[in-house]
Amino acid sequence: MFLILIGPPGVGKGTLGAALEAKYGALPISSGAIFRAEIEAQTDLGRMAKRYIDHGELVPNGVTIEMMNKRLRDPSIRKSGFVLDGFPRTVRQAEALDEMLFDLSFGLDKAISLEAPADLIVGRLAGRIGCTRCGEIYHSVTKPPKRDGICDRCNSPLFIREDDKPESIRERIRVFWETTAPVIDYYSKTGSLLKVDASHDPASTFHQVVAGLHLESK
Ligand code: ADP
Ligand code: ZN
Repeated sequence: MFLILIGPPGVGKGTLGAALEAKYGALPISSGAIFRAEIEAQTDLGRMAKRYIDHGELVPNGVTIEMMNKRLRDPSIRKSGFVLDGFPRTVRQAEALDEMLFDLSFGLDKAISLEAPADLIVGRLAGRIGCTRCGEIYHSVTKPPKRDGICDRCNSPLFIREDDKPESIRERIRVFWETTAPVIDYYSKTGSLLKVDASHDPASTFHQVVAGLHLESK
């Protein structure tokens, strides 16, 4: 299964990716998570990317495409499939991904567009807390961890993302509408778009996706 998740920050791409992995074994690949790992490891790429990420701006296409190209060539992905989260984020990246998929003979199943009103996603992001180790996502109001600052699942420390501060959240949402919304049109034209209402709970989003994918496979 080869899927792309598109949607504004905070709409629930990470949560849906984890559910798709649990049910279908498709490997979630988050460009943002790869950048954060590069920053953590203090690589040249990480240092460069951090200047953009902390302000909620996009990392330039060239390095982003090169990084994802490398990642998608990992042999295990042919077997597991993938759920891309955060890539492609520009039409240029979508075109580059098409070339990669063609090269690797991976057939894209669907590009899933997750939709929710702006005020709702700002609320979700503003309380978001993540696990440094297993990637589990919590929320200070709607899904607090049992112990403050500790992951229920793996006991690792939790963290709040640098770019989850209010100014960066606003900038990330603005960038989404300006630069990433055209990517939705891009997949709509090729007939591979599946639109989902992500304004309810994660289970509702997941069920719509399963139903949508099933319909298409009939
Ligand atoms: P979110 O979707 O919640 O904004 P991500 O973890 O996907 O968060 O991305 C965090 C940041 O990493 C983005 O704001 C951007 O700076 C950078 N980034 C991630 N993916 C891409 C991409 N495909 N192209 C350019 N920048 C990216
Ligand atoms: Zn954890």
